[in-house]
Amino acid sequence: MKNNCVFCAIAGGEIPSFKVYEDDRFLAYLDINPFSKGHTLVIPKTHSEALLDTDDEILGDLVKCVKRVALKVKAATKCDGFNILQNNGEAAGQTVRHIHFHIVPRYGASPIVFENHEGNMQELSSLADAIRSV
Ligand code: AMP
Ligand code: ZN
Repeated sequence: MKNNCVFCAIAGGEIPSFKVYEDDRFLAYLDINPFSKGHTLVIPKTHSEALLDTDDEILGDLVKCVKRVALKVKAATKCDGFNILQNNGEAAGQTVRHIHFHIVPRYGASPIVFENHEGNMQELSSLADAIRSV
């Protein structure tokens, strides 16, 4: 874990998460305060802060992992579309300094607003089960 990094702690199993995908290098879990139903974060288990300091090979494979997880999220949530977001630096809205991609499902014609909502633990738990089992 680097500098008390919360996402390193999740990767190391020190903090619980609603996991939807895991392999030896990458991890995906539900955002605890989701923008929309099924909002998922995908991280490398190795620490880097953001895009520019992430190893090229890890970054390439991370994007492939984002695609794999997005397929599962889409199948489980039956969303109509999704946004991929990746914030770099405080000015860009990055609050956790461990690189992550957001997968934000979209439903119907709902307006595109990137705003956190307090997550319901029961709903997050059953949703994580549904995505994981795709
Ligand atoms: P960003 O603003 O791009 O840094 O996004 C960080 C995201 O991480 C926010 O949407 C938070 O809701 C989410 N987040 C922070 N802590 C946790 C956690 N322990 N488990 C799941 N998601 C988290
Ligand atoms: Zn970290």
